[in-house]
Amino acid sequence: MTEVQTTQRDFMIPEGCPVCAADLPVRVSAAGPNGVCKHCGWIGKPRLTVTHRGFRVSYEGERA
Ligand SMILES: [Zn+2]
Repeated sequence: MTEVQTTQRDFMIPEGCPVCAADLPVRVSAAGPNGVCKHCGWIGKPRLTVTHRGFRVSYEGERA
């Protein structure tokens, strides 16, 4: 039997790091999404907003 955990999801935002533009791995937990760049060590909480054109990624502290 294989257990499937649905309470936590990980995904990758291509070129999602605002500092070095590396791929940003994001872990989604009950506390919300938390991104940690493995390239430069930047830590932040990306927010995904659904728009008509797809997804828009913004970060806490960033002015939209
Ligand atoms: Zn980075």
